[in-house]
Order: sequence, then C-alpha cells, then structure tokens
Amino acid sequence: MIKKTVAFHTLGCKVNEYESEKLSKELEARGWIPVSFSDDAAVYVVNTCSVTKIADHKSRQILNRAASQSKKNGAVTVAMGCYASIEKSGLTADLIIDNKDRDRAADLIEELFEKESAFEDAPAPSFTRPRQRTRAFIKIEDGCDSFCSYCIIPYARGPVRSISPDEIIREAKECALAGIKEIVITGINVNRYGAGLITERPAFTGEPLAGLLSRIAEETGIGRIRLSSVEPGLINKDFVSRIAEIKSVCPHFHMALQSGSGSVLKRMNRRYTPEEYMKSVELLRRYYDDPALTTDVIVGFPGETAEEHRESMDFIRAADLSKLNVFRFSGRPGTPAFSMKGQIRNAVKEERAHEMLALGEELRASYEQRHRGRVLEVLLEEAEENGAVSGYSKEYIRVTLPAGTPGEIVQTTF
Ligand code: SF4
Repeated sequence: MIKKTVAFHTLGCKVNEYESEKLSKELEARGWIPVSFSDDAAVYVVNTCSVTKIADHKSRQILNRAASQSKKNGAVTVAMGCYASIEKSGLTADLIIDNKDRDRAADLIEELFEKESAFEDAPAPSFTRPRQRTRAFIKIEDGCDSFCSYCIIPYARGPVRSISPDEIIREAKECALAGIKEIVITGINVNRYGAGLITERPAFTGEPLAGLLSRIAEETGIGRIRLSSVEPGLINKDFVSRIAEIKSVCPHFHMALQSGSGSVLKRMNRRYTPEEYMKSVELLRRYYDDPALTTDVIVGFPGETAEEHRESMDFIRAADLSKLNVFRFSGRPGTPAFSMKGQIRNAVKEERAHEMLALGEELRASYEQRHRGRVLEVLLEEAEENGAVSGYSKEYIRVTLPAGTPGEIVQTTF
C-alpha cells in the first residue's frame, strides 16, 4: 500500500510557519501522515526563505539534503516559499510551488504523488510529528507594498491582501476548541490589515486591526493574543487606547526599528523618523506598565558611517528596548540597496554587529531584572527531561518552573 507520508522543514518567518502548518493540516485531512524531516517520507517539503543571503544559503542547503534523502528512498522534494518563488532555476526540487499558487499546494503535491509510482515502496513512518498544542499562528494578511530599499519580500509575495475577519474568527475558534491558549497574529505587514480584502467586506468599526482584535477576544475565548509585529505608523493614540482595553492582548510589541539613525532610515525607505518611533515607544509605555518592546536592527547598511552607527546605538539605548534581533546587512539582488554606493566591508559589519549584540544583551538583562519579584502569567509549553517545564510570560520572558503541565497557564513570582 502507498504510504502518503510528508515531512516539512520550514525556514524564516512566522508566516512561513503558519503556511507550513496549514498545508500540513490540509494534507492530513486528505489522508497524509506527517513525519519528522529526519525520517523516511514520500514527500519532503522545504518552505524556503529569502530575507537575507544566509537564508538563501540555508534554503539551498536543506533542499540539497532533502533531494539526496529523496534519491535514497524514491521520494520527491517540493520547494515553496519566498526563495523558491524568486530563484526557480537551478533548485534541486521535483516541484516548485510559487507563492501565488500556494493555495493550490495540496492539489499540486497530490498530482505529483499520483504521477510517481516510486511512492509505492515508501516505508512506513517510525515517528509522527507532535502537534503544537499551546500556541498557534494565525495569518491575517499576506504581501507588502512598502518597498523598503533592502527587502525582497514585496517582489516575492506581491501586494497586501487581507483575510476577512470572519475567516480569521473561524480559525481562531478552531484553535480555541483544539485547546490552543495563545494565538499569534501574523502577517508580512500586519499594519496594513484591512487593505486588499480577499473575501467579503468586514463590518469594521474604526481602525481595522483593533476591530479585529476586539472580535477575536470577544468571540473566541482565547486567553492570550500576541501581535507578531507592529510599525510606528500603527501606534497612534486611537489604536493603543483601544487595544489596551483588550485584556488578552499581550504587553509585548515587536516594532522593527532597523536603524536609529534618521539618515539611514531614509536610505532604507522606512516611513518613520527616529523621533516618530520614540513617540510610539512613549505612547505604549503610557498605556502599559513596562511592556516588552522588542525590535530588529540592521548594521552595515550601505553608506552607514561610524557616526550613523553610533546614532543608532544611542537611540536604542535611549529608547531602552527590551530585546534586539541584530542582522548584518546582506544585499539582495533586485533591490535598490543591492547596488547602492558605499557597501560596508564584512569586517566592519562584524564589529558593529558585535557592539549591537552586546547592547541587546545588556538591555534584555535590564528588562528581566526590572521584572524580578513580579508575578508573571506563564503559559507552560515544554517539558524538559528533568521534569521541569518552561514557557513564556505575556511579556515574552522565558520562565522555567520545577514542575507543571504543558498547556497550563500559571501565575508565578519571577
Ligand atoms: S515593511 Fe519593509 S521590511 Fe517589512 S516586508 Fe515590507 S518591504 Fe520588507
């Protein structure tokens, strides 16, 4: 009998994680069995990422590994996601699913499956992938039309398309029924939620994203809602005052800064100044008691002088952000920044990344220190070998307790 087994390897952002999970569920509903990527499978799906050169490299590496595994057991390799959509030629995959065909991915995989007789010998799975039962991603929009000068995503994913509130509510209710305790609102640019609505018009009152969050809170009973990212343009008084009333929205805002230097932000084609970013930070602190304010920052952007790097560091310190994800600039062919003058030497990028990472570590430690002694609400997620259980607080502070049950929400003194 043919074993319809499928294994996923997902690179990159939370949107990719959501899309792999969705495709996996769709295939499961059609009788497929999910297995681990290190196991024998009939189909290996690699959900690729192209956000940096390193992401491209990793995507190629995993595809090559999947292809050689496929050769051994007569399986096939499927490439999807942003890198696969941009770099179709030269990929080691039997099927490449472009982002625009993603909704037909399960059909395309089944068509391929039916064509290939080699699947008949595929071995039975020895391991079934465990399901994540505590936290789920829900995608509310796809695409981006901001065209930051370094970013390939608008070319890979196209313009903004929002998913209707009714569809999102239906999915959130399914999550609640499945015992999910926290949903993470995900998208490529969730700030643009409401633009290019895919299905019927929503009954929005006021600001679209705040309206959606209220509906999720009121209609689904999900205890925790986390926003995966926001931009300063969204953080105005109307928005913050509305969401601050929704108790299930976590006091954790990931607001990508990219640089604290106004001149670098301009070259990046970001649509805010450091001063506007700071106003958003202050506004969030007015409505929330020491919320987690995490960010992404790029060092070594073309033309970045030592002075601009210093400005960026000073700004981040002054904003007192709680966690930094630091990226060394890597030019993506096809974006304006790729051919900008003043590309920075790797050794300089390395040095600046090192300084920025040290600052990030200092800020993270100081944020955690300020929360010592406070009672935090922790969603337990992972059981460790010694019986300890770890999870995250609403502020996304990782907490480990000596005992507990994954899926439980507990109050604990940090
Ligand atoms: S907002 Fe900028 S960085 Fe983010 S996906 Fe859009 S273009 Fe890329």
